[in-house]
Amino acid sequence: MMHRKTLSAWPGVLEHYRAHMNWIPEGAKIVTLQEGNTPLIPAPRFAEQAGGGFDLFLKYEAVNPTASFKDRGMTAAMTQALARGAKLVICASTGNTSASAAAYAGRAGLRCAVLLPHGKIALGKLAQARMYGAEMIALRGNFDDALRVVRELGTRPGVEVVNSINPVRIEGQKTAAFEICDILGRAPDFHFLPVGNAGNITAYWRGFKEYHQQGMISALPHMCGFQAAGAAPIVEGHPIADPQTIATAIRIGNPASWEGATTAVSESHGLIESVTDTEILAAYSMIARLEGLFVEPACAAPLAGLLRKGRQGLIPKGSIVTVTLTGHGLKDPDTAMDQNKVEAQVVEPNVDAVLTALAD
Ligand SMILES: *Cc1c(COP(=O)(O)O)cnc(C)c1O
Repeated sequence: MMHRKTLSAWPGVLEHYRAHMNWIPEGAKIVTLQEGNTPLIPAPRFAEQAGGGFDLFLKYEAVNPTASFKDRGMTAAMTQALARGAKLVICASTGNTSASAAAYAGRAGLRCAVLLPHGKIALGKLAQARMYGAEMIALRGNFDDALRVVRELGTRPGVEVVNSINPVRIEGQKTAAFEICDILGRAPDFHFLPVGNAGNITAYWRGFKEYHQQGMISALPHMCGFQAAGAAPIVEGHPIADPQTIATAIRIGNPASWEGATTAVSESHGLIESVTDTEILAAYSMIARLEGLFVEPACAAPLAGLLRKGRQGLIPKGSIVTVTLTGHGLKDPDTAMDQNKVEAQVVEPNVDAVLTALAD
């Protein structure tokens, strides 16, 4: 085989940040799809809508191998499952965890079962789980019910849970904070992200703190988490029995990493608030139109939060603000089509017909 030096320059997040991964078993085979190394995209037009006067960068996690940030944690969870000789990997999922688990399990040669809330999974995510070959089980219940069942199954021998209750998921996900600091050469002043099961806000805070302790950055960001108003247990201070929101990825009533989220917010002097589905949908359309970034509705929760905070004048002039865009818009085509009912005009194939159509 011909050797090409340029091939696979980026090895995936575990190899790249191996020095920060002391949990990886000696000699373990790394299960990777070369996740991570995602772009940090400037978004000046959106920043202007949020009052302006600060620099906004979007961590576009949609370009991970299965189109969400979940791949960062899944490379870790699947590497560990393989090293432990797991017979079956399982997860509860609002969609993206199952897509990622299915892909990485296939690559590792492990049997994978995903437990999904019946009827509430975005179309693209279902298509992914099917294509990657996971065994899909739909529960008559919500995500929280699915996670409860998974926790119980996880005590059986040979069964490995790859939800973010698995601590190495958080280890993999903290690399997104490292990448942001590596690109900026410092930490942001504010970091915004959506909060569902709260694994990611826990992971980012761990990543920023580790870099700070190791002298890689000299200051820490304020962590700003956003839940959907119908699924805002942390904001309201109690579990929500029947969480509801169009942002299915954060439709969670009893977050597993609840304490991680509240710790991140209090230690960083940040905040956690809720935004309505109306605000989410407005930001969802705005980011596509102003910045060319098609994201899934959950990503629009922190964007809606930024619009609110910026307009309230709570972002000091000259700040650097980063927002995690957690998953791709193509995962949820139904919401996109519902948002925009404008159909293409059908005309004859000649210049005059097109010009007439454009004149309207
Ligand atoms: C999983 C997920 C979230 C929520 O992340 P948590 O770690 O559960 O808080 C947000 N957006 C997308 C697209 C997700 O897949």
